[in-house]
Amino acid sequence: MQIIETALGSYPLQRLPVSRKGKDPLRAWDAADEYLLNYLNEQALPNANNKPILLINDAFGALAVSLHQYAIHSWSDSLVAHQAALNNLNLNQIESDYQAIPSTTPLSHHYNLVLIKIPKTLALLEYQLTQLKPHINPQCTIIAAGMAKHIHTSTLKCFEKIIGTTSTSLARKKARLIFACNDQTALSGKQAALSRKQEPVTPSYPKSFTDDALNLSLSNHANVFSKDHLDIGARFMIQQLEKHLPEKPYKQVIDLGCGNGVLGIIAKRLLTDSKISFVDESYMAIDSAKTNYLVNIPSDPDLKDARFHSSNCLEQISHKADLILCNPPFHQAHSIGDQIAWQMFKQSKQHLNAGGELWVIGNRHLGYHIKLMKLFGNCRTLASNKKFVVLLAKSLSELTV
Ligand code: SAM
Repeated sequence: MQIIETALGSYPLQRLPVSRKGKDPLRAWDAADEYLLNYLNEQALPNANNKPILLINDAFGALAVSLHQYAIHSWSDSLVAHQAALNNLNLNQIESDYQAIPSTTPLSHHYNLVLIKIPKTLALLEYQLTQLKPHINPQCTIIAAGMAKHIHTSTLKCFEKIIGTTSTSLARKKARLIFACNDQTALSGKQAALSRKQEPVTPSYPKSFTDDALNLSLSNHANVFSKDHLDIGARFMIQQLEKHLPEKPYKQVIDLGCGNGVLGIIAKRLLTDSKISFVDESYMAIDSAKTNYLVNIPSDPDLKDARFHSSNCLEQISHKADLILCNPPFHQAHSIGDQIAWQMFKQSKQHLNAGGELWVIGNRHLGYHIKLMKLFGNCRTLASNKKFVVLLAKSLSELTV
């Protein structure tokens, strides 16, 4: 097991999913976490003032575990991040005042110390800072941390625009800290005049786009996959759904890693008698999928045929399905890998009824057919083009969930 060592203590930490070979090639923290924790110690922060510390985007709980003696509010779009933090607190036998707050739940406290890990997209950062702004006290200390390669001029401008004067630290082990003062009203001279004229920043998301060819209107929160247009892989998958689904007798369908819900919505239109479960670990994805289902499936305003689950792959799902649709992620935050796709395929096998089918869309070079063949003992190519392949694996035996 890998151990984080900073001036605030040494703790074994695990990522999720836990490595399948028992080894853990990817760490549950990065140099930016270490830099931030050492900096807090050097500056004798946080001081014990009984106020909870707000963590934003703590990936696997490195910050929550190292700061466990304080009340922690962890605001994140990732259910897996929240689960990983709880696992790591347990692993270290720590009983703490840890509160997981989904990204879609508005903040309700005021904070004196806010620690932010820079997220993958500027859209999410902008959304989070805009939501945060009314919840920080004037003297609030806001420190963000990230790897230097993920911190751009646009990142700093985003802090300047929404929070106030922003500066950065020197790089340490290729990581940097960002310091933002909540001082928009404390600026002097010309800046103050400009700042007073500034309108409060309104977040750009959720934002909708329409796809006339598919007669779809899709609303997307800031952290939703392919939030500004329909993903080309999803479009290719939809062509196959339209071709093959109408003649299939499926009653229970799961859209696994549903994002804005586009695959499940199309499946529901083609299989009008079916029940669809939308599953994603992103709270924003689930919220967007629900909005989109209601808009695009007007025949089911009471959601009798749809369920929405925040879940780590299919861990939180207790029912089985005849069809699982999956456009798997090929990265987790900033790191690339196939570990989540593998977890999704394994759990799909456990969740399919006998004769049920898993349909997967992926880039050709990812080699998903090898994994599916290994797991299911069969794998058929439904369609392929220069970039993508749509694969079908059938469950030949019934397994218990
Ligand atoms: N189905 C959508 C589409 O085709 O446009 C989105 C596909 S996107 C490539 C992969 C989705 O998997 C993302 O929405 C992501 O949030 C979700 N995801 C990533 N890790 C997950 C996990 N451990 N459990 C459930 N969903 C996950």
